Amino acid sequence: MFVDMKEQEKIFAQISSTEVLEILSKLVRFRTVNPPGKTASCAQFISSLFQREKIKAKLIETEAEKVNVMAWLKGQSPGKTLLFNGHLDVVPPGADWPVDPFSAIFKKGELWGRGTCDMKSGIAAMIASLTAIKRSRVSFPGEIIFSGVCDEESGSKKGTQFLLKEGLIRADMAICSEPTDMAVEIGNRGQMSVEIKVAGRSSHAGRSHLGLNAIHFAADIIEKLKKLKLKSSRNELFEVPTGSLSVTKIQGGLTDDMIPDRCFLTVDIRLLPGDTFDSTLEQIKQEIEKMENPEGIKISYRMHGNFPPCLIPVDSPVSQAVIHNYGKVLGEEPLIRAKSAATDASHLVAAGIPTVIFGPGNSQYSHTNQERVSLSKVMASVRIYALSALDILRE
Ligand SMILES: [Zn+2]
Repeated sequence: MFVDMKEQEKIFAQISSTEVLEILSKLVRFRTVNPPGKTASCAQFISSLFQREKIKAKLIETEAEKVNVMAWLKGQSPGKTLLFNGHLDVVPPGADWPVDPFSAIFKKGELWGRGTCDMKSGIAAMIASLTAIKRSRVSFPGEIIFSGVCDEESGSKKGTQFLLKEGLIRADMAICSEPTDMAVEIGNRGQMSVEIKVAGRSSHAGRSHLGLNAIHFAADIIEKLKKLKLKSSRNELFEVPTGSLSVTKIQGGLTDDMIPDRCFLTVDIRLLPGDTFDSTLEQIKQEIEKMENPEGIKISYRMHGNFPPCLIPVDSPVSQAVIHNYGKVLGEEPLIRAKSAATDASHLVAAGIPTVIFGPGNSQYSHTNQERVSLSKVMASVRIYALSALDILRE
């Protein structure tokens, strides 16, 4: 049973842009930068917002000051469970911002700052939509649970993965409010990292012929990887329709005058549904093993499969609810696609919870010094989340 006009009015009457902007600005001012990813005070603030509305909330600490916050809004009768999920941690601000990244400056309809787009706007919108449902007293069966998690920017082991493992997240479906610029994203590419250790032999740089230079060999590996065309699946629904590979870190050398005996490379790899962590690692190994290595430099690998790729059917109830209510709120059809970056939807889908990604931020600004979000998109998201939640649970 869809939400009728009268109920919709009741819910929308409980949503004010001043209040949403205030919540979002406060969230941005908590410096939840990861590393180190301390989310305690931010999680505490969110918990207090829910408690003020008489919505049950709880803090779940997984490591010193790495805190998750969960909330539960129960309907009037038993039914399904919908999860609202978002992460509280943000990446470091980096340099050359036009404004202070933690002041939350509002100008020309946009709020600026680290985390405005990725993804405290999504969190604020979900909090506001739960609050509006509660205040409106509109009835629904089942339960909406909210998880504001830590640790997403470093693989989610202390965040969403922890809550799933502990059985704290149990849901029939989920909405993740990562930035999609209001596109309905029904999946995301996976992400894995491979650390490559190159072990040579040190010598005095004045007698370089006696050493085995690990940095020189690592440079050859990089050249090889730059040219490697990954055999990955292809899917045009994805913003980037194939897998990709980038060397993202390099570390080596001890002093100016020593031939380095060690060099470490990190390779970031993105995967499409159908690709596996193991077969991708195998391709990289094979490529490196083909290289000439007469002096016997030793190579070893450590693989971290952080986010499996995921994709849910476009006709799944959770996708359909968001698509339908996007139309209802904005009067047009949404763009439907799948994300190029990874999100916690990976872990939720792997745990059997169909998850749609939908959020007001524009991921073009994620992790940049231009990060900002449009307040009107945040407000539209609040409405779309609220109506979608009720439609899904009433189905
Ligand atoms: Zn994010």
